[in-house]
Amino acid sequence: MSSLTGIAASNGIAIAKAYKLAIPDLSFEKKNVEDTNSEVDRLTKALDISKSELEKIKEHARTSLGDEHAEIFSAHLLVLSDPELINPIEDKIKTDSVNAEFALDETAQMFIQMFENMENEYMRERAADIKDVTKRVMAHLLDVSFPNPALIDEQVVVIAEDLTPSDTAQLNKQFVQGFTTNIGGRTSHSAIMARSLEIPAVVGTKDVTEQVKQGDILIVDGIDGEVIINPSEEQVKSYQQKQEDFEKQKQEWAKLKDEPSVSKDGHHVELVANIGTPNDVEGVLNNGGEGVGLYRTEFLYMGKNELPTEDEQFDAYKSVLEQMGEKPVVVRTLDIGGDKELPYLELPEEMNPFLGFRAIRLCLERDDIFRTQLRALLRASTYGNLKIMFPMIATLDEFRQAKALLLEEKDKLTQEGTDVSDDIEIGIMVEIPSTAVIARQFAKEVDFFSIGTNDLIQYTLAADRMNERVSYLYQPYHPAILNLVHNVIEAAHAEGKWAGMCGEMAGDSIAIPILLALGLDEFSMSATSILPARTQIKDLSKEELASYKEQLLSMNTADDVEAFVREKTNQ
Ligand code: PEP
Ligand code: MG
Repeated sequence: MSSLTGIAASNGIAIAKAYKLAIPDLSFEKKNVEDTNSEVDRLTKALDISKSELEKIKEHARTSLGDEHAEIFSAHLLVLSDPELINPIEDKIKTDSVNAEFALDETAQMFIQMFENMENEYMRERAADIKDVTKRVMAHLLDVSFPNPALIDEQVVVIAEDLTPSDTAQLNKQFVQGFTTNIGGRTSHSAIMARSLEIPAVVGTKDVTEQVKQGDILIVDGIDGEVIINPSEEQVKSYQQKQEDFEKQKQEWAKLKDEPSVSKDGHHVELVANIGTPNDVEGVLNNGGEGVGLYRTEFLYMGKNELPTEDEQFDAYKSVLEQMGEKPVVVRTLDIGGDKELPYLELPEEMNPFLGFRAIRLCLERDDIFRTQLRALLRASTYGNLKIMFPMIATLDEFRQAKALLLEEKDKLTQEGTDVSDDIEIGIMVEIPSTAVIARQFAKEVDFFSIGTNDLIQYTLAADRMNERVSYLYQPYHPAILNLVHNVIEAAHAEGKWAGMCGEMAGDSIAIPILLALGLDEFSMSATSILPARTQIKDLSKEELASYKEQLLSMNTADDVEAFVREKTNQ
């Protein structure tokens, strides 16, 4: 028995055997074969198994994530049925009398190089498809198991160096009890998705993939950030108890599902949810969300080979708005970059992706992409209570440009005779310190602010949110952060606007009393955090907390802030 400590990324306890998501060793030797027919048969069998796996994965992606995510697997299936690729492999086996592994690798490499050197972006993407499917076929030829997160059909804990958002989205909640990774932080996007899928997770363990063997029994404690490897019977029992207590607590929280979020002294705040796909709306409603405070639209663009069309986007936005009825839905325009990549845009690699060409910067330059999204949003606006916000705004000029494009598209649609709602609020995310500092100037022009602390903290303390080695500097309660947040809220209120927060800090039990004291209007968090937050707020007095405001803002360190809040709120 040994244990590892990481970052508690998603609540709950998982106990199951380890399933390593690592590409197996696919090395092979070139062999001369006499019976080339049976070699071709081996190839055909490996192709057939690969196809049937991909069919299942595609179906799973379609039902759990929607058509657009399933498309990438259709492209992979096409490759496996393409005679232009398969015939030359068979010919090579027959004419050169070589083994199937060698013929597959030589032929695939030739096509990969050919496609990679092509000018056309679409053709270059085919190289990536061939690389991907060849690995799968090779694994079947070598008879080694190939990881298929979407096909897991027994209870496991998934272990990986890292999980991309689309890996995470493929995990089937019914079987995947939890996951744990070497890298990542509480605000990395795999952690955020784990919370919306309600899978317990511990990230940033540094070396769980080295410490754990396939099939080891693991306990993942997503409440306290611990991973126990091959636990004793006693430990299993005590964690089962912890899990039961957690379930009971959830039942207590659920009692407040249909209640408003009101403090002990009668002040109402809005508790809303962050979502990534229309499928997440069910979880928001089940957890008593009063709206959607952040719809991260980039997942519509990820896990596929091309940009989503206007109609595809319209369908997704309409679906979210309709499901939410009159409740507000804040949709954020495309925020690609940082740890969310779109390989098909072929953007050059950057030294500092989080500080680079991303989000609104990309949208203002690629206004073709941006206008398509804006049109889809405007067309969907009549189906519910839509608010639109722009990410990563650093200057007033960026906001003005983005808003002008939105109004241009609105005019065009109106002229074309398409109905567009007349009262869409237009706001910004405050996640860059420059914007937080001059929030007064912004407040005159925007309808609302949503403070994105996941990025605001990393930029203010210069600490990469993905890098667990500097995670000690990633301090939500740092007085500098509190002062920036305070400045934004005051600026909004001075102009009669509202201020929300959609970074993970909004759902944090130490931060909640501080944010109440500072007067935050809307708290947007993972759906599963809403009921605990509502329970907590019910027992807090906003006015008493507000009397500590100046004291909190002038504290020296994050530790001082935390100790003070713990003492005042008995945590
Ligand atoms: C943020 O930065 O706080 C935020 C909510 O956006 P994201 O986590 O998607 O960068
Ligand atoms: Mg952000």
